[in-house]
Amino acid sequence: TADAALYSAKDKGRNGYQFYNHKMGVLVEERAEIEHALHQALAHHELELHYQPKVDLGSGKIYGMEALLRWRRPEIGLVPPDRFIPLAEDTGLIIPIGEWVLRTACAQLGAWHANGFPHLTMAVNVSARQFLQINMPDLVREVLADSGVPAECLELELTESLLMQNRDLVVQSLEQLKEIGVTLSLDDFGTGYSSLSYLKQFPIDVVKIDQSFIRDVTDNVDGASLTKSIIAMAKSLHMTTVAEGVETEGQLGFLNTNLCDAIQGYYFSRPLPSGEMDTLLHAGARLPPDNCHAESRQR
Ligand code: C2E
Ligand code: MG
Ligand code: MG
Ligand code: MG
Repeated sequence: TADAALYSAKDKGRNGYQFYNHKMGVLVEERAEIEHALHQALAHHELELHYQPKVDLGSGKIYGMEALLRWRRPEIGLVPPDRFIPLAEDTGLIIPIGEWVLRTACAQLGAWHANGFPHLTMAVNVSARQFLQINMPDLVREVLADSGVPAECLELELTESLLMQNRDLVVQSLEQLKEIGVTLSLDDFGTGYSSLSYLKQFPIDVVKIDQSFIRDVTDNVDGASLTKSIIAMAKSLHMTTVAEGVETEGQLGFLNTNLCDAIQGYYFSRPLPSGEMDTLLHAGARLPPDNCHAESRQR
């Protein structure tokens, strides 16, 4: 029913997903049914990717984007990833879904490369479960070959939780991925327990500063100094910084002053379906020059 909303029932634990009909106040769907529906989602072409631009603060220009997964469920609407990725991880469905995401994002990037934007990069989120269950370097090699996209243009967004397990195996895979030539970034930095010095042992190129830090930069002194030191420390370790969840001009100003390399967030653009992203690219959307700084590394 149209008014059924997917929500995660806290008392059922992290993966206790249920459909709740607000009007009637009753449970209309159990986890098993969602699992069944998710099994069919790929075959029924219900998954789609939206794309959120990443903007270089040196030039003010879009240099790449991040692919963000959505599930368009018949009769329900667009389901955000936080509502079904944990279930996909638990059931192992994250393996075929993750492969579909990588292939679709690279195919889309190849199309943009061929249609006037040859330097764009594409970032794909990889969950720890997915990374640990398959041979990621083999999959990446295959998908790059099939799509014709240069390795330099593909970025994998990894989580801190991945770096906390099977250290030797993870380091080995990451080094193979670096040999292939893809960019490795750490998503949601600051929300886990790792420090930047811990990260030194991994070949990570980019640190994405979690939006919870960005939210605070203009609201409190501690938030500002934390973000400032993350940017400074990342730079000293030769890592690029990307601020996530930038929503206001004030936050942007702070990030410029403190020489953050790039931003992503609603301030510039929400994640968009490919057609709308195409329009944005062709319109030459960018930050005005006085909203940029000149010292960011060249892209
Ligand atoms: P993430 O990778 O950290 O992606 C950023 C999330 O923040 C996205 O939510 C994006 O829509 C949202 N966001 C961007 N700018 C702003 C802003 O200015 N303000 C606010 N409030 N939010 C902003 P989304 O698309 O719902 O994705 C949530 C998470 O789901 C992602 O977090 C990522 O961890 C995961 N995810 C998404 N797609 C995939 C995928 O294909 N595979 C895997 N494994 N995980 C995915
Ligand atoms: Mg991400
Ligand atoms: Mg993130
Ligand atoms: Mg996140």
